[in-house]
Amino acid sequence: MKFDVITIFPDFFRGPLDYGIIRRARESGLVAIEIQDLRAFAHDRHRTVDDRPFGGGEGMVLKPEPLFECIEALDMAPREQRASEKQSVILLSAQGRRFDQFVAEELSVLERIVLICGRYEGVDERVGQYLADRELSIGDYVLSGGELGAAVIIDAVTRLLPGVVGNEASTRQESFSTKTVLAQGSVPSSTCAAGGLLDYPHYTRPAEFRGMAVPEVLVSGNHEEIRQWRRRTALEKTLRNRPDLLEGSALNKEDKKLLAQITGD
Ligand code: SAH
Repeated sequence: MKFDVITIFPDFFRGPLDYGIIRRARESGLVAIEIQDLRAFAHDRHRTVDDRPFGGGEGMVLKPEPLFECIEALDMAPREQRASEKQSVILLSAQGRRFDQFVAEELSVLERIVLICGRYEGVDERVGQYLADRELSIGDYVLSGGELGAAVIIDAVTRLLPGVVGNEASTRQESFSTKTVLAQGSVPSSTCAAGGLLDYPHYTRPAEFRGMAVPEVLVSGNHEEIRQWRRRTALEKTLRNRPDLLEGSALNKEDKKLLAQITGD
């Protein structure tokens, strides 16, 4: 997978993508991340990339020409062939579709992703209309630029690539993951929320810390009880913090029973 990030602040990316899993993925060649300085595609003496908005109003808008030229220089497939070439040009935008784990999974099968970071009041609308394949927002709030959003998308997508996270089963069974529901009777792995729920609580040593003990079931060695406890606590946490997720989650008979126990229905 190759990411290109187009930004007016290339130095912004010194650091956020240089640690842990993402760093190792880059070092082992599973992912390549290149930062493109948008100003390199401006032609005037001041390397101008923004201009005042037509129709008046506050602030400045990123101009279309440098962005179109930058994409052309990156040798991307023409827009109508990008999907079949496993490429995507994404504009970071507060007005975009909301980025979530499902979109991350969709993007993780691509080979090339270009992320365009807006600044100021935003980007000339023709970029979203004619150049980018989609607009993505990382949440319902307004950031001052698309750079943090680009880093979020790169991180979330990279950890889904085969071979990036040591234990692949674990990325399939984390919060929001819709892919796996642990079968009854099977042994619990380190994480097994899945089915669109939030992850269950994790504990490590010491078993007792300042009077706070870890749940006894976890040290019991009884795999079936541990599995049930994890599923129940994942359901409890989802109900408490994100009840909206329960509607789209894959609940089996046992889950429904556990949920009824939790809510007292
Ligand atoms: N006027 C715009 C906000 C511009 S903020 C509006 O009201 O929608 C400047 C840039 O920050 C945007 O062009 C976009 O690239 C980025 N940005 C802001 N909020 C974002 C979000 N929630 N998700 C992704 N990118 C965002």
